[in-house]
Amino acid sequence: MSSPSTNPAWGLYERLMPTEIEAIFDQHPIAYLPWGALEYHGKHASVGLDSLKAQGLCVKLAQQAGGLVIPTVNVAANTMKTVPDIKHTRHSLNFSEELLRLLAKEYFEQLAEEKFRIVFTLCGHVGQPHYDIIKEEAKKFNQSQSSTRIIATSETDLISEDIVVVNHAALGEVSFLMHTDPDCVDLSRLPQDRVPTLEDDAVWGPDPRESSADKGRAYTEAFLEGAQKLIADTLAQN
Ligand SMILES: [Zn+2]
Repeated sequence: MSSPSTNPAWGLYERLMPTEIEAIFDQHPIAYLPWGALEYHGKHASVGLDSLKAQGLCVKLAQQAGGLVIPTVNVAANTMKTVPDIKHTRHSLNFSEELLRLLAKEYFEQLAEEKFRIVFTLCGHVGQPHYDIIKEEAKKFNQSQSSTRIIATSETDLISEDIVVVNHAALGEVSFLMHTDPDCVDLSRLPQDRVPTLEDDAVWGPDPRESSADKGRAYTEAFLEGAQKLIADTLAQN
């Protein structure tokens, strides 16, 4: 493995031909699997926030650590649509927990068959039990074999709570998106005369009106540090 200061080989899996995949794989047998959702995130953020955030962070991580970024999975359970008494039932796709579990299991199996040493699964959507299902399947798969290590995590699990707390369409997520995909956020669509709420605005967590691309950049730096450490620790254990 090369150090982060060198220019590690990385790429978007679906865009590469076999020779290029193998050249990257030989140096960095790591797959990054962004796992997102298509889900209402208020009027101020795109419905693919969870997917774009996970994908953007996986690309930045691959640029530092090397490896292959697998296309984002847009299949989520437990989205906004299922929250009782919520007004925003449009613009969220909600799949069954059974499908999610099967999909996670088969993605892990398929990527292990490709002989990746690490599959870094980044969950942009942490609705529950969606997030626990992916983590459970990762744990089960790790217990069943030892050649491939599945990591299943989320950006807030890798960053101190002093920096970002788990949230929905609030300060944390929105700042990340302003950093990775600035055209997918419009803060002027947030209410100006009251604090945004879950019921009215799909916002859960610190006030998104304070979001900025600079904050997103700082959160991303913290994420990259935590993620690189987790990958290094995982490789060292195996
Ligand atoms: Zn989200």
